[in-house]
Amino acid sequence: MSYVQTDYTTLGGRVTCTQCSAKSKRSQERCRNPAIKGKTKCKHHGGRSTGCKTPEGKARQIAANTKHGRETRAIREERSAKLAELYELEKEMRNMGMVEGSWVSRKPPNR
Ligand SMILES: [Zn+2]
Repeated sequence: MSYVQTDYTTLGGRVTCTQCSAKSKRSQERCRNPAIKGKTKCKHHGGRSTGCKTPEGKARQIAANTKHGRETRAIREERSAKLAELYELEKEMRNMGMVEGSWVSRKPPNR
């Protein structure tokens, strides 16, 4: 879905806001209401929606928006943990004098 982001000035030029990006099914015209602050839709077209609340709803949303699953949060966390493990192993090997030269692994970020 693409739309041109248009800015409105209302209240005598005191407030600037974005035009709602919803399009009417019936008239094919774009909604003329101002969008809610920080959103792209007005209050009539889902601008006040905060998304899914229940775990089932969140799972449905993830399933609907997952394109291939090669980069998911779980995969990234697993990779990060494995790289941290590799770093610890290399540090131990360097302490024992088994490895010299430049480092292969990187120090994991502190989280
Ligand atoms: Zn609207």
